[in-house]
Amino acid sequence: MKIAVLPGDGIGTEIVAEAVKVLNVLDLPLEMESALVGGAAYEAHGHPLPESTLKLAKEADAVLFGAVGDWKYDTLDRPLRPEQAILGLRKNLGLFANFRPAICYEQLVGASSLKPELIAGLDILIIRELTGDIYFGQPRGRRTAADGHFPGSEEAFDTMRYSRPEIERIAHVAFQAARKRNKKVTSVDKANVLETFQFWKDVVTEVHTQYPDVELQHMYVDNAAMQLVKAPKAFDVIVTGNMFGDILSDEASMLTGSIGMLPSASLNSQNQGLYEPSHGSAPDIAGKGVANPLATILSAAMMLRFSLNHAEAADRIEAAVKSVLAQGLRTPDIYSEGTTKVGTAQMGDAVSKALR
Ligand code: NAD
Repeated sequence: MKIAVLPGDGIGTEIVAEAVKVLNVLDLPLEMESALVGGAAYEAHGHPLPESTLKLAKEADAVLFGAVGDWKYDTLDRPLRPEQAILGLRKNLGLFANFRPAICYEQLVGASSLKPELIAGLDILIIRELTGDIYFGQPRGRRTAADGHFPGSEEAFDTMRYSRPEIERIAHVAFQAARKRNKKVTSVDKANVLETFQFWKDVVTEVHTQYPDVELQHMYVDNAAMQLVKAPKAFDVIVTGNMFGDILSDEASMLTGSIGMLPSASLNSQNQGLYEPSHGSAPDIAGKGVANPLATILSAAMMLRFSLNHAEAADRIEAAVKSVLAQGLRTPDIYSEGTTKVGTAQMGDAVSKALR
């Protein structure tokens, strides 16, 4: 099993090193090869996603990704910015389904801004479509009164679009995921005002006829945003488009208190996937050895389960993470009184030890 390891920038290198450490304890035939991506690749090769990195990713069974970006690249032309590497990987690998579980660990209930009773035992999965919607619709642009271009724009526009196959495949993914969980899908749309999302709702309803054992509920996105903070445990699987998914998955990630705990997976139709923490490169704490590596370690567990067919190893990693939390070990982002503060490497060591 071949894994392309792309640590990226900022804390990316620190947290990926810990995930690799944990994978190495497993005694599985994993072949890991690293390459530069993001700002680090731009510095070395003049491009955030060099051909060699893309080739490695394409040939691998899975990609373990850290994070990319730094404020110092904000003035670069858009195609050269580190974040473009993720878009390039998604496009070239055909990654269309983004899985973002939001799980509240018993020991971290106090880290959430919500009342403990609302989130204790929370285990929901947001599935975001990644290839369509307003982020990729054409035409897009700006107009001036004289129909010129920026600067002096009077108007800007992006087009929202979804095709039937795009909606069908993400709906199948959601119903199949729900079958392995609590058998309930909430499809989030804005069908009351957007034609694109009336179409979304119609197609999801059609696909649902093939999954009579799974309950389907439709919800408008504004209501879903409210319900996520009012009664998040009422959800099981949420499926939605690219933009609503972008926003709702960040909202859901905060339910659990720390962004440093949340893994994610982006899959294509062959179950090849890119696995990364939900957070960014955190330039503010990079190099200090304090970043929480658990989101990346849990992403590695998702990789074993979804792309590498080693669900048992994934279960072991997740159990090891629970065990270090139960021992009271905390990186600063999840620290509370009465627990023991540890750094990035110590946390990785503790998970490795618990695994052994
Ligand atoms: P961020 O997620 O990097 O950081 C937000 C806050 O959370 C910061 O205070 C940071 O210190 C903290 N944080 C994040 N991860 C943490 C961890 N593992 N442990 C402890 N604390 C953690 O978001 P940002 O500051 O808005 O963005 C920083 C850079 O990351 C930008 O260049 C942005 O474009 C990029 N970014 C990249 C990705 C990605 O690679 N997928 C995603 C989001 C942002």
